Amino acid sequence: MHELTLLVGVAQKIGEIVEENNIDRVDAVVLEVGEATAVVPEFLLDGWSVLSDEYDYLKGAELIIDRIPAIAKCVDCGTHFAPDENEGRCPACDSRRRELVSGTEFLIKEIRLME
Ligand SMILES: [Zn+2]
Repeated sequence: MHELTLLVGVAQKIGEIVEENNIDRVDAVVLEVGEATAVVPEFLLDGWSVLSDEYDYLKGAELIIDRIPAIAKCVDCGTHFAPDENEGRCPACDSRRRELVSGTEFLIKEIRLME
């Protein structure tokens, strides 16, 4: 379950931020997770409920997952489209050559603090 490894990285990164800014507790963490990543949001939430208790600054903090839709761009004609539709081919020119322009994100978007 690599979600747990990712979460440990997130927790450590937040640890650096709270230390630099003299923050005691975090209220919520917003993660951007692209649909084209292999990350399963349910596993993230499950892992978070265990992991967040192990860090003082994360105790009781909520994890909010912001899913970013996968968007592909046709290499041949430049059309943007959803890569999981039309069998992955460009709806405009039927090309199979494409690159993902969105959907591979995994990053901390926002850290909300206790009032
Ligand atoms: Zn095309």
